[in-house]
Amino acid sequence: MKIRVDPDKCQGHARCYGLAPEIFDVDDYGQASVIVDEVPPELEEKARLAVANCPEYAIEIVSD
Ligand code: SF4
Repeated sequence: MKIRVDPDKCQGHARCYGLAPEIFDVDDYGQASVIVDEVPPELEEKARLAVANCPEYAIEIVSD
């Protein structure tokens, strides 16, 4: 599974980082980024949770 954060939509609530710090990082401005190339199978559920919980719909599943 691959996911990405759309930097134009991300408003820096850091909810993704709070839910899954193994997958996301947030910079000093609150902008989130994905820190893994592929989401490992054991983290896919967390990734989907983050997608569902981003208030800006900024996290996209690129490939399942
Ligand atoms: S939850 Fe969404 S808007 Fe908030 S930092 Fe993560 S990607 Fe950005």
